[in-house]
Amino acid sequence: MSNIRNGANQCRNLNHGRMNVPISFCPDCGQRFKPSNSAPCGSQHHADYRKQRFTFCMDCGIKLNK
Ligand SMILES: [Zn+2]
Ligand SMILES: [Zn+2]
Repeated sequence: MSNIRNGANQCRNLNHGRMNVPISFCPDCGQRFKPSNSAPCGSQHHADYRKQRFTFCMDCGIKLNK
Protein backbone atom coordinates (compact mmCIF):
# COMPACT_ATOMS: atom_id res chain seq x y z
CA MET A 1 0.00 0.00 0.00
CA SER A 2 1.32 3.41 -0.87
CA ASN A 3 -0.35 6.42 0.56
CA ILE A 4 -0.24 9.52 -1.55
CA ARG A 5 0.45 12.65 0.40
CA ASN A 6 -0.77 16.09 -0.39
CA GLY A 7 2.77 17.30 -0.85
CA ALA A 8 3.29 15.10 -3.87
CA ASN A 9 0.08 16.16 -5.52
CA GLN A 10 -0.58 19.71 -6.62
CA CYS A 11 -4.30 19.11 -6.79
CA ARG A 12 -6.27 21.42 -4.51
CA ASN A 13 -9.30 19.19 -4.20
CA LEU A 14 -10.05 18.76 -0.49
CA ASN A 15 -10.84 15.08 -0.86
CA HIS A 16 -7.12 14.32 -1.04
CA GLY A 17 -6.77 15.06 2.66
CA ARG A 18 -9.72 12.98 3.76
CA MET A 19 -9.72 9.57 5.36
CA ASN A 20 -13.06 8.43 3.97
CA VAL A 21 -13.58 9.92 0.56
CA PRO A 22 -17.18 9.67 -0.68
CA ILE A 23 -16.16 9.59 -4.34
CA SER A 24 -14.11 7.14 -6.41
CA PHE A 25 -12.03 9.60 -8.41
CA CYS A 26 -10.88 13.15 -7.93
CA PRO A 27 -12.91 15.43 -10.24
CA ASP A 28 -9.94 17.77 -10.63
CA CYS A 29 -6.95 15.52 -11.30
CA GLY A 30 -8.53 12.11 -11.94
CA GLN A 31 -6.61 10.31 -9.21
CA ARG A 32 -8.35 7.23 -7.94
CA PHE A 33 -9.39 7.28 -4.29
CA LYS A 34 -10.97 3.85 -4.13
CA PRO A 35 -12.20 1.14 -6.51
CA SER A 36 -14.94 2.48 -8.69
CA ASN A 37 -18.41 1.03 -8.89
CA SER A 38 -18.93 -1.57 -11.55
CA ALA A 39 -21.91 0.27 -12.99
CA PRO A 40 -20.84 2.34 -16.00
CA CYS A 41 -21.77 5.98 -16.20
CA GLY A 42 -24.22 7.25 -18.77
CA SER A 43 -23.58 10.15 -21.10
CA GLN A 44 -26.21 12.24 -19.32
CA HIS A 45 -24.38 11.61 -16.08
CA HIS A 46 -21.18 12.98 -17.58
CA ALA A 47 -23.02 15.92 -19.11
CA ASP A 48 -24.19 16.88 -15.63
CA TYR A 49 -20.64 16.74 -14.35
CA ARG A 50 -19.47 18.89 -17.23
CA LYS A 51 -22.02 21.51 -16.23
CA GLN A 52 -20.48 21.50 -12.77
CA ARG A 53 -17.10 22.20 -14.36
CA PHE A 54 -15.49 18.97 -13.27
CA THR A 55 -12.50 17.85 -15.28
CA PHE A 56 -12.86 14.15 -14.49
CA CYS A 57 -15.83 11.96 -13.70
CA MET A 58 -15.89 11.21 -9.98
CA ASP A 59 -17.39 7.75 -10.57
CA CYS A 60 -15.45 6.24 -13.47
CA GLY A 61 -12.44 8.56 -13.71
CA ILE A 62 -12.59 9.38 -17.41
CA LYS A 63 -11.66 12.85 -18.55
CA LEU A 64 -14.71 14.88 -19.44
CA ASN A 65 -14.66 16.79 -22.68
CA LYS A 66 -15.08 20.49 -22.40
ZN1 LIG B 1 -7.15 15.69 -7.24
ZN1 LIG C 1 -18.25 8.48 -15.42
